[in-house]
Parts: sequence; C-alpha cells; structure tokens
Amino acid sequence: MLFGSLTPGAALSARLSAAFGGERLPNAAVLEGGTAENRRALALLLARAALCSAEGERPCGVCPNCVKALAGSHPDLRVEGGTGGARSFHVEVVRSLREDAFIRPNEAARKAFVLLEAQAMSEQAQNALLKVLEEPPQGVVFLLTVSSASALLPTVRSRAQIFSLEGGEPCAADPALLSSIAAAVCAPGEAELLFLTAPLIRDKDALRAALEGLALLFRDALVLRSGGSGSLSGLPEDAARLSRSLTRESLSSLLSVVRDAAARLARNANAALLVTSLCARLRAAAGR
Ligand SMILES: [Zn+2]
Repeated sequence: MLFGSLTPGAALSARLSAAFGGERLPNAAVLEGGTAENRRALALLLARAALCSAEGERPCGVCPNCVKALAGSHPDLRVEGGTGGARSFHVEVVRSLREDAFIRPNEAARKAFVLLEAQAMSEQAQNALLKVLEEPPQGVVFLLTVSSASALLPTVRSRAQIFSLEGGEPCAADPALLSSIAAAVCAPGEAELLFLTAPLIRDKDALRAALEGLALLFRDALVLRSGGSGSLSGLPEDAARLSRSLTRESLSSLLSVVRDAAARLARNANAALLVTSLCARLRAAAGR
C-alpha cells in the first residue's frame, strides 16, 4: 500500500496493507477514531487502492482508475454522507447504494462505496446496509468512516474489519470524571457511581463523550491485561489499575457494556434509563 502524505502509524499501516494490499479485499471496513478529515482521506485512499489497476503497490496514482478516482469522476466510486448531523444519512441513500452494488463495475475490477460519518445513520439505515453486508456482491468494497465504531449496530460491526485511527480529536470527556467513574465501577457500593453519572443524564454530549472515553480506557486496560501496551485514552495509570484489579473477561464485558450504551445513545435511547442500566451493568461486569 502507498499511503502518500497520509501517515496512519506503523501498526495501522501494516494492518491496512495486509487487508487492502492483495487481491482479496474485505467487503467492508470501518475507519473509526482520529479526525473526520483523516478518516475521510484514508477511506478515499483505500477506495483508490481498491480500484487501482497497477500490478505493484496501490494506489499507484497514475493509472486511469487512479486518475479518475482522484478527480472525483470514477463511475465505480461512490461517496455518500459526511455532513454528520444526527440521522442525516438517510435510509433511501442506503437503499440506492444497495441497488447500485449489484450492478457490475463499469471500468475498474471492483466498485467502492465510501460512506462518510456513518454515526449519522439511523438504526433503520444501518439495518438496510446490513442486508448488503450479509450477502455482498462480488467485487464490492464498503468503506465506512465513523467517530466511534460503537455508534454502529453490533451486527454491522461484525460484518466489517475495524481500523482505529490514533491521535485524533482529544477525548472531550473530563479525564478526572473518567478516572473517578473507573474507580467507582470497582468500589464496594453503587452509590458513588450513581452520583458521578447522574449529571450525564441531562447532557447527552457529555454522556456520549464519557462513553467514548470509558470505551478507550477499558480497551487500554484490556490490552495491558493481555500483555500489550499503548494508551488511546490518555489515562495510562487508570488503565494499569483496572488491568491489575480485574480479569480479562471482566474488562472485555466492561468494554461491551459501554459500547452497547454508546450505540443505544446514538439511536436516541432515553438517557435516564440508559445511565441507570449502565451503572448496574458496569458493576455486574466488574463482578461487584
Ligand atoms: Zn492506480
């Protein structure tokens, strides 16, 4: 893979090259994290790699497919979404993409669909997308960008390879709050956790940020527990504490619980019910 001016980092570059460097490409990939602009640039680069007809490293940038894709005029490359507003990615667009996917490519060997900021898809739109991901036509590649993969339905996530961009927008959640919540999850009583999370019920943005921050923190702790290293949350000490006091299974459940809550929030779940059940489920996942 030729990444040009994009520098996704050594580990991510290696994974992307393994997935998109050969002849058999994944049917769907999700690019999460980083900035919206970085996600978009990387998704377009992967789309060009999928269409490129060069023998060696792709995208070559000079073959007719690359030139047209760069100019935004390739008939086999379709880009949708991107405004990011809640539910602005309509189900009608997804249905039209689905029909398009069953029409053979015009010029390239494949068709590439870039779906920008897929967190703006309603559950209905995601379910429409799921239908084509479950039985994808040959030679079609879907590239989704999303602020956090947790905003996607688990069924959609399970059909795609997930790639996380690092070093993006700093997490908007208050690090001190995340740290306190992490400690309260493992505390003997439930009162502290309920107290800390109560203000999030009235502030959905803060709740979303807290869930994203907690997902990164639990992910960091799980990586440490599994013998890995590297922090995405910016809270390495809290991640280390969690990894020492909880089992791998507990950390993995905690991650699932916050991802599930984030997905439900993205689908406009009732915040009060969501926070209450979140507290109970976090405590249960931590074995408390
Ligand atoms: Zn090319």
